[in-house]
Amino acid sequence: MSRSPLPPALVVAPALAVLALAGCAPGSAGTGSPAASGGTVEVLASFYPLQMVAQEVGGDRVTTGSLTPPGAEPHDVELSPAQVASVSASQLVVYLSGFQPAVDDAVEQAGPRHVVDAADVADLVATEDEHTEDEHADHGDLDPHFWLDPTRVPPVADAVADALSEIDPEGADTYRANAEALAARLTALDEELTSGLATCERRVVVTSHEAFGYLAARYDLEQVGISGVDPETEPSPARLREVGDVVRSEGVTTVFFETLASPKVARTLAADLGVETAVLDPLEGLRDDTDDYFSVSRDNLEALRVALSCS
Ligand SMILES: [Zn+2]
Repeated sequence: MSRSPLPPALVVAPALAVLALAGCAPGSAGTGSPAASGGTVEVLASFYPLQMVAQEVGGDRVTTGSLTPPGAEPHDVELSPAQVASVSASQLVVYLSGFQPAVDDAVEQAGPRHVVDAADVADLVATEDEHTEDEHADHGDLDPHFWLDPTRVPPVADAVADALSEIDPEGADTYRANAEALAARLTALDEELTSGLATCERRVVVTSHEAFGYLAARYDLEQVGISGVDPETEPSPARLREVGDVVRSEGVTTVFFETLASPKVARTLAADLGVETAVLDPLEGLRDDTDDYFSVSRDNLEALRVALSCS
């Protein structure tokens, strides 16, 4: 704690810093605090899709950061003391309770003044518990991966717009308009996915971890995950046999792997079964900064259309 890279003012008095910033109108000269960069509202998101929402809704009135470093897998993120302090110092924290335990703890400890918990508005559903081999599977746990169904994202954008409007009332009309523009782009993406996946020779999608339950439910696909909802879980030999049986009986051509979690298990399984591999990105983070939520979603659509022989 004695070597925190944050300036002493933020470490000693984070609550005061937040109060000072919350009262600081955008466009003003700021308070001299490093947290007030150009008079924008400081928003901290816990991982990429929520940062995307905050940036799109906030536009140039906000500065967004993420608690999950670029290229990192967010499920088991660990936070440094400086990151925990940044949770206190931010004017708004956007996170998803139940997804990243370290973030849940930091939000509870730091008590930021304005918080949007996407779990409150994204209409999460319980994971399907197909892993009878896994004694540790928690029955009735909520599946966090809502952002892979674009129709579940606009309520989060609305909640972010509401929170930003409280912090920065002068921007309220802008935040509302930005949230509506984002919702329109998400609706267009949903329509592309719906039509692109309407007529396919196969509907079973074998994935390395079960991130695609909401996508499968929305577009009438059937997800078969090698690992469960947590990508760190090693699949049992029995689970690998089950997946192999599905691949053979359903004529599956492709085992999908991800970009941030290790592709080894998926690649080995595909090689054993003599089928292809391809990337299906759970959008938990970006591989490189030329991508965004929409471009990766469209890459996913193309990968699915090839693997499932959609017309
Ligand atoms: Zn995941």
